Amino acid sequence: MSCDYFALASAGVRGLQPYQPGKPIEELQRELGLSEIVKLASNENPLGPSASVLQTINASFKDLARYPDGSGYALKLDLAAQLRVETQQITLGNGSNDVLNLIGLTFLNGIESAAAIYSRHAFIVYPLMVKAFGARAIVTETQAFGHDLDGMLAAIGDDTRVIFIANPNNPTGTWFDQAAMIAFMEKVPEGVIVVLDEAYFEYALGSQNGEAQATDGLALLARFPNLIVTRTFSKAYGLAGLRVGYSVSSAEIADLLNRIREPFNVNSVALAGAQAVLADTEYLARSRETNRAGMLQLETGLQKLGFSFIPSKGNFISADMGKDALDVYHDLLKLGVIVRPVAPYEMPNHLRISVGLESENDAFLKALEQVFG
Ligand SMILES: *Cc1c(COP(=O)(O)O)cnc(C)c1O
Repeated sequence: MSCDYFALASAGVRGLQPYQPGKPIEELQRELGLSEIVKLASNENPLGPSASVLQTINASFKDLARYPDGSGYALKLDLAAQLRVETQQITLGNGSNDVLNLIGLTFLNGIESAAAIYSRHAFIVYPLMVKAFGARAIVTETQAFGHDLDGMLAAIGDDTRVIFIANPNNPTGTWFDQAAMIAFMEKVPEGVIVVLDEAYFEYALGSQNGEAQATDGLALLARFPNLIVTRTFSKAYGLAGLRVGYSVSSAEIADLLNRIREPFNVNSVALAGAQAVLADTEYLARSRETNRAGMLQLETGLQKLGFSFIPSKGNFISADMGKDALDVYHDLLKLGVIVRPVAPYEMPNHLRISVGLESENDAFLKALEQVFG
């Protein structure tokens, strides 16, 4: 009889369900023999990478035989200047996902009876991480799909080590403002690490319709040493395929994260690409404007078709299909449109649609109308 390797795995890993990524375009092409596929499933930047990135990474290929700069010195210098923080406060990751993992390794893994708090409908990497590291998950309830910060405060116990908060949150798009974050942080004990995941920060910047903007966690770091802010180049900066993200924290916490960071976790092409797009203010402005216009197009179109949706400050919107959304998802696939079912987030009737180019949003709305027509 062969060995039962499942039984040999750690309890944390045995309890996991693998992360389900958005369906790749090529996979649907193979399955349906369709050539025209619209993918609005992974909150990717519909503009494609900036031209400045393509030029820069092309030039970086000649150094591929060399290891990357393990400290990411040049990128950190640029980030520090732009974000007005010290380089010692920055931890680079292979995507911000990597940084979330480092935080789990540092503050949850191997700690007896550690607990972590996250919200229902929150980004699914948090439950994955918390379970993998054998920590106890405390899941708080939401208000209108958004984080209930008071509920999270009430859930803090003696063994609580980390609180994960995405603002805006994925897949709900819900957000809260800086004043709410400050009021929250003032009540969190200093021994509890708060991870503020600002993956959509660049989209949520600036007020819309007279509403206050979402948080800017960096402005709170000096006051709250237990705060870690994570951001990414995967969304508004259009580099999801290169995998670069980072956290900004106290230098003391950054030093801890750095101890378990793989020495070369961000590759040389990614370092070069991130530096290039960080300098490309025109690209970021175009990303934001494309998203603003596309969001309005999707909201208006959904409304016209009679669907309700959760107002979002991200580059995606979750709409209520009024029935099991998996059926709608499959019907849309047949029409060559990939969106994201969010049943794993306990939102079985919702589909998450990433904001695309005008033509892509239009293709989605037409397909949706056809499915329900
Ligand atoms: C997309 C996303 C990330 C970013 O992941 P990367 O690893 O940086 O690509 C992080 N948090 C949330 C909430 C996200 O939606």
